[in-house]
Amino acid sequence: MLRQEVLEQFISVVGPDRCKTSPEDLLTYGYDACIYEYVPDAVLFPKSTQEAADIMRIASAEHVFVTPRGAGSGLVAEALAKHGGAVVCFTMMNRILEINTANRYAVVEPGVVISELQKAVDKVGLFYPPDPGSAAVATMGGAVAMNAGGMRGVKYGVTRDYLLGLEIVLPSGEVMVTGTVTAKDVTGYDLTRLICGSEGTLALVTRINVRLLPKPKTKRTLQAVYNSIDDAGTTVSRIVEAGIIPATLELMDKTVIKAVEEFSQLGLPLDAEAILLVDVDGGPESVETEAALIADFCRTQGAREVRVSLSEKENELLWSARRSAFGAVARLRPTCMIEDATVPVSYLTSAIKKVIEICGRNRVQVGVLAHAGDGNLHPLILCDQRDKAEMERVERAMDEIVDYALSVGGTLSGEHGIGIPKSKYLPKQLSETSLSMMRAIKRAFDPSGILNPGSFLEQRGS
Ligand SMILES: Cc1cc2nc3c(=O)[nH]c(=O)nc-3n(C[C@H](O)[C@H](O)[C@H](O)COP(=O)(O)OP(=O)(O)OC[C@H]3O[C@@H](n4cnc5c(N)ncnc54)[C@H](O)[C@@H]3O)c2cc1C
Repeated sequence: MLRQEVLEQFISVVGPDRCKTSPEDLLTYGYDACIYEYVPDAVLFPKSTQEAADIMRIASAEHVFVTPRGAGSGLVAEALAKHGGAVVCFTMMNRILEINTANRYAVVEPGVVISELQKAVDKVGLFYPPDPGSAAVATMGGAVAMNAGGMRGVKYGVTRDYLLGLEIVLPSGEVMVTGTVTAKDVTGYDLTRLICGSEGTLALVTRINVRLLPKPKTKRTLQAVYNSIDDAGTTVSRIVEAGIIPATLELMDKTVIKAVEEFSQLGLPLDAEAILLVDVDGGPESVETEAALIADFCRTQGAREVRVSLSEKENELLWSARRSAFGAVARLRPTCMIEDATVPVSYLTSAIKKVIEICGRNRVQVGVLAHAGDGNLHPLILCDQRDKAEMERVERAMDEIVDYALSVGGTLSGEHGIGIPKSKYLPKQLSETSLSMMRAIKRAFDPSGILNPGSFLEQRGS
C-alpha cells in the first residue's frame, strides 16, 4: 500500500485524473499478455519527461517501487508490479516528435504505437521495419525495453538494429541522453543498446531516436502449402543456404492453420500439415527473380501448392491470416502460453519435430508457429491454468523444449524476453560471471532496487 502522503506527492505531479487508484483501474493494470497477475498500488500516466523524472525523484526519496509499462502486450509479465508500488504507464506520451526525411530518422515518445509510426513514415516514402505481431497495439517504449523482433527480423533485424539514441530517466530521477541521431556513433559505451532489451529494469525510456530506411519499391507474398512439416522446414533451410534473404519467412503448422481458418475464413487448406508465408521486397526486377526462385524451391521441396499474390490487397489478406494466428489459437483453450526458444536456422525442422514430440509425450496440446527464417520457434501451448496437473505437464514440456534449444546452440528467448516464466532457466544459458556482471549493471543504474523489482534477474533460480 502506498502511504497517502506519497500518493499526494504523485498527484501533485500528474494531477488526480492521471493517478489511478480505484480497485477496478488497478485490476486492469495488474496483468499483461502472460498468465500472471500482480495488482499495483497506483497507476500514473506522465505526459512529459519532466513528469516522469519528478515521479522517479519522489519514488527514490520515498523508496517506492516503480514498474514502467506501455501497452501491456508483453508475454513475460515484466510490465507488472510484482512487489506492488506504482506502475508508470506511458500511453499518454504518444507524440511523433520528428520525421526527418533528409537524414532518415524519427524521434518519438515512448507511448507511440509501433504501427502508427510505420504508417506515418510510410506516407513520406520511408520504412520502419521492426514488425512484431502486436504492432497494432504495442508501444515503441515497450519495443525498446523488450528489443521486440517480429516478422521482418530475417532480413531487417530487430528493434535494437534501428536505435540511434534515447532519452532516459534514471531511478534517481536524473535525465540522461544516450546516442545521437547520426548513422554512426562510437562515443563511449553503447548505453542505447544496453537499455534495449533490459525489460524495464534500468531506466524509464522517455524519448526514442530510430533510423529509417527508404521504403522498398515493391513486394510479393508467396504462400506454399505442404503435406509434411519436414518439407516446409527443409524449404526454409534451402532458401537460407541459397543466400536468398526474404523480408519474412513464417511457418504455421496444421493446428494453427485450422484455428486461423476457423477464425478468419480465408480459404486456407484445412488438410495441410504446414504453410510457409514468404515476402520478398526490393526493386521490381530482383523481387520477380527471387519470388520465382523461392517458388521453385518450395515446389522441389514438396509443396503441393504455391500461390504468388498478384496485388497489395492479396498480400494483405495472406498476412492478415498470419497476424490473427495468436488470437485465433488462443480461443481454443482457456490459457495459451507462447514459447520463444530459438535455434540456429539449420535446426529448424528438427526443432519443430522435437517440440511436437515433447508435447505429445507430455500430453500437452500445441500448435507451432515460427519466424522460421530466424529459427525463432513460437510453440503455442494450449492449456488451462486452473488445472494443476496439466500445468505440471506443461512446465515439464517447456523445460524439455528449453533444454533441446540450448543443446543445439540456441537461446532461451529470441524476442519475447525472460521475465518471470524463463528466469529459472537463466543459469542454464548464462555463466555465474555473466549473471554477476548483469546484476552489477543493474546496481549501477538502480542502487536501491526500486525499478521493476522481481524482474528476470531477481526471480527464483537465477
Ligand atoms: C499477439 C501478440 C503478438 C506478439 N508478437 C510479437 C512479435 O512478433 N515479436 C516480439 O518481439 N514480441 C511480440 N509480442 C510481445 C510484445 O508485444 C512485445 O514485447 C512488445 O514490445 C511489448 O510492448 P508493450 O508496449 O506492450 O510493452 P509492455 O508489455 O507494457 O511492457 C513490456 C516491457 O517494457 C517495459 N517498458 C514499457 N515501456 C517502457 C518505457 N517507456 N521505459 C522503460 N521500460 C518500458 C516494461 O516495464 C516491461 O518490462 C507479441 C505479443 C502479443 C500479445
